[in-house]
Amino acid sequence: MRIISGIKTIAALLKELRSMGPKENAEFYRAKCEYYQGIVELGLLVACLTTIFFIYSDYMINGSVLPTLIPRLSILVFIAVFFIVTNISSSSRVVIFMDFFLGHGMIIAASWTAYNLKDNSNSITGIIIVNILWLVIGYVSTPKDTIINGIIYVLEIVITNTFIHYINYEQIVSLEIPIIMGIIFVQYIMTAFFLDRYRISQKLEQAMITDPLTQVYNRHLLEKIVSDNTLKDVSEDETVSIAMLDIDDFKKINDDNGHYTGDITLFYIGQMLSKEAEKEDYVIRYGGEEFVIILRNCGIDDARKRMEKVRSEIEKAKDTPVPFTISVGVSGYTGDYTNTLRTVDAALYEAKNTGKNKVVVM
Ligand code: GH3
Ligand code: MG
Ligand code: MG
Repeated sequence: MRIISGIKTIAALLKELRSMGPKENAEFYRAKCEYYQGIVELGLLVACLTTIFFIYSDYMINGSVLPTLIPRLSILVFIAVFFIVTNISSSSRVVIFMDFFLGHGMIIAASWTAYNLKDNSNSITGIIIVNILWLVIGYVSTPKDTIINGIIYVLEIVITNTFIHYINYEQIVSLEIPIIMGIIFVQYIMTAFFLDRYRISQKLEQAMITDPLTQVYNRHLLEKIVSDNTLKDVSEDETVSIAMLDIDDFKKINDDNGHYTGDITLFYIGQMLSKEAEKEDYVIRYGGEEFVIILRNCGIDDARKRMEKVRSEIEKAKDTPVPFTISVGVSGYTGDYTNTLRTVDAALYEAKNTGKNKVVVM
């Protein structure tokens, strides 16, 4: 039964959605907003601009365009505020709030128009059509936002009725409540499906920045963490050190023992560096047998001690595929990524030129 398997898929996705921690949950909804906002914004803009053309049907009711001209054009003010605010802040919470703001701007403009119309029997159509907006905004919002918005919308209908006196008020309210429940249901399903897509893109992204042999990061990570030649998520008062590690005479290891032994030696060191690294550090396979380690919250003295520990453990280790040693260059991050890396490279070069199997700090 297809319908049963569909229900099972949705139920599993919703269960996964509920089991997310608050941080992961916020990140998920941020990604959902980033993915759909462009199209939601376009949809809202087209809907807002369309309402201006309703001046003609207002004319058919009133016999004049004047009473509803300003109320209809007032939507332009809401559009302007929308673009100003979303240009100042691109935070997904602000953007979602402004999507709802624009939706309610349409309701305010429409209610003002209805107030100036001789006959408001068409209001019911407008009120029901607005639900399409809530469905569209649902692509970026959370189901909780939609529930809150649904309550606000019903209150808006109740409040505007006090001065517009909809001739089919009871019908409007009795239709609106099940429609909002339906929208919330559909939105849960849409959100669950986005989760499926989100997980796949997360896996792809992770695979792109992971070195398949050593299971540490690869150089693609640098595109994510370095921008404008600085480490993006490092604040000015954080002390960071950078180390570059290179296996000594690795070519000989390959030549004497074969490439497979060379490979498992690389795997061994990748595992060891991952274990040695603190949670916020980055271990990157930089080249063939070269690794860059970005040591977060770590002064140069500590960095030297930690790298010296790695070097001596490798030298003494009994569980390595073949006995080997490493050389390491270390330097303090200055805020200029390229320049720091150049110094680290020079330190490694000196370690290699003064006998290998050592840590040099510059
Ligand atoms: P040095 O002590 O000066 O660093 O000498 P070295 O022999 O380690 O340095 P060199 O750069 O000359 O050699 C690096 C070797 O690493 C050459 C290359 O064949 C090998 N290599 C690079 N990537 C891989 C890999 O993925 N697997 C294996 N098995 N070998 C690799
Ligand atoms: Mg080497
Ligand atoms: Mg090398």
